[in-house]
Amino acid sequence: MPRQSPFGHLEGSVLVSACLLGINCRYDGKAKPCHEILSAKNFTPVPVCPERLGGLPTPRPPACFAKGDGREVLAGTGRIVNADGADVTEPFLNGALHVLELAQLLNVRWAVLKEGSPSCGTTRVSSREGRIQGVGLTAALLMQNGIQVLNEDG
Ligand code: SF4
Repeated sequence: MPRQSPFGHLEGSVLVSACLLGINCRYDGKAKPCHEILSAKNFTPVPVCPERLGGLPTPRPPACFAKGDGREVLAGTGRIVNADGADVTEPFLNGALHVLELAQLLNVRWAVLKEGSPSCGTTRVSSREGRIQGVGLTAALLMQNGIQVLNEDG
């Protein structure tokens, strides 16, 4: 029996991490296309890449949390740095705010975001110590504003 799509309950406009839709916006210039999202017919995917929307280029040095996670950045105690040691908290936050603005404009109820990213991660994020349990900055901001956030596994 074919597996039921974990995205079968979504409808209307849904924010989706642009890299999951095959857009080459990742730090390494690549994408992470997700077949299950690309083949879904029950919702309209709206591609968003918070890091690009925050003004960062592709390619760019990879970034991770130097302190806390997305919730802690929103609380003013977290920090994101890139592999060159530069503090990139501000562009990450600007990008997250742009994504929230779009979500509110389109009245979206759901977002499907790329797991593990310091912007988009929903349960795990990268830190200086490697992957840790936590929420990316954009994911945290969307959750804080009542949007249900899923990862690519649903
Ligand atoms: S995980 Fe998020 S921030 Fe990173 S490339 Fe994909 S959409 Fe952009």
